[in-house]
Amino acid sequence: MLQSYDVMIVGAGIVGLTVARELAQRWPDARLLILDQEQELAFHQSGRNSGVIHSGIYYRPGSLKARLTLESRAVLLRFLEEERLPYELSGKLIVAVRPEEAAKLHQLYENGRVNGVAGIRLMGPDEMREIEPHVRGLEAIYVSSTGITDYRQVALRVGERLIERGVRIQLGERVNRIQIQSDLVAVETTTGFRATGRYLIAAAGIQTDRLARAAGLQPKSRMVPVRGNYWTLSPQSRHLVRSLIYPVPDPRLPFLGVHFTRRISDQAVWLGPNAVLAAHRTRYRRRAVNLRDVADIAGHPGFWRLARRFWRYGAGEWYRDHWIAAYLRQVQEYIPELTRRDLNPGPFGIRAQLVDANGAMVDDFRMMRAGRALFVLNAPSPAATASFAIARHVVERGAEEFGWTLRPPTD
Ligand SMILES: Cc1cc2nc3c(=O)[nH]c(=O)nc-3n(C[C@H](O)[C@H](O)[C@H](O)COP(=O)(O)OP(=O)(O)OC[C@H]3O[C@@H](n4cnc5c(N)ncnc54)[C@H](O)[C@@H]3O)c2cc1C
Repeated sequence: MLQSYDVMIVGAGIVGLTVARELAQRWPDARLLILDQEQELAFHQSGRNSGVIHSGIYYRPGSLKARLTLESRAVLLRFLEEERLPYELSGKLIVAVRPEEAAKLHQLYENGRVNGVAGIRLMGPDEMREIEPHVRGLEAIYVSSTGITDYRQVALRVGERLIERGVRIQLGERVNRIQIQSDLVAVETTTGFRATGRYLIAAAGIQTDRLARAAGLQPKSRMVPVRGNYWTLSPQSRHLVRSLIYPVPDPRLPFLGVHFTRRISDQAVWLGPNAVLAAHRTRYRRRAVNLRDVADIAGHPGFWRLARRFWRYGAGEWYRDHWIAAYLRQVQEYIPELTRRDLNPGPFGIRAQLVDANGAMVDDFRMMRAGRALFVLNAPSPAATASFAIARHVVERGAEEFGWTLRPPTD
């Protein structure tokens, strides 16, 4: 029998799950269904990231990223406390290692102040080494409000709470057809499962552009998969990093650069992620190729414009990805004591990078509406940190567009 719901959510990453949580709190008798193609929650980006609780220092003042990151942090931290999930506000250093980075560092500091980021200050090399004794640099910003957690565990706990509230989560169902009608939305998955809902929210990460197209939208932007590889420090060299060490980012790019991250789960230190074009959206093998994914990239005029602008950066990342000596030189700029023996290959994640037709990498969070459906088209980093506020933003947009009557927010 065809099952019918008030809201169907496609995607059980941290965004889809927190959207369901917000809906369950503010529209308690709504019948909710979450569909995900994988056999477990948070299988893609939400379970394969750096685990950093971002402070909001990087984002353009007035952007959704700046606002929602700051709003979400408070809710996330409360959730972590209430649920007794591991986290630590361990602070981070953003380090300038070359004189030409000083101006960018100061600009970043100003940006953080305008965004209202708590606990930021500029410091010189001596003070820097009190925080990270092995770091080398000319100047740094210390951000005490940055932290670490495990977003996979956050997503799993949100999922458990949803099930307790009666939300149906159906795994192993890849949605491949969406029909938006005047009074309902119908979906079908590759297993033949079908359901209808009064509304649909798609939070399918790197596949959201395809779902939008399947629903008849014509987004001019397209997802380009960008692999982010990590190396891990061998146990005997972990003492070289106490917490988080970041480079000064290139303001033209949405990536923050290879950084050192101490993990909350096992105190391991990860280095990365880099940013290399991937030929597969969802397979975690370096050489995985999917012809449809490649054709989608090659057929997008925006990709070629992007490639013309950033080929030098892309080539550098590719070179360091394949040539460990070059990678080592890059990370030694921050910690000169590191040697080849300290680095072990680690896992990787694949970023969903939305690229516009004009070749710009879309930086801010973005949503699109088609009839009774909302598509979370762009939720790149720091969407794990910002997820609780993105969820509120999505649900309130639903109320605005569809006339939902919601209870006031509970957290
Ligand atoms: C390497 C890396 C490092 C990062 N580091 C950080 C960090 O330190 N801090 C931070 O805040 N953010 C970080 N991010 C960003 C953050 O992880 C993502 O922005 C966030 O997880 C996005 O969540 P999501 O739910 O939108 O996407 P996803 O987690 O990718 O979830 C999408 C879900 O949709 C499902 N799906 C897709 N298509 C279909 C379909 N057709 N039918 C059914 N289900 C479907 C997928 O199986 C998946 O479960 C990082 C990301 C990467 C890749």
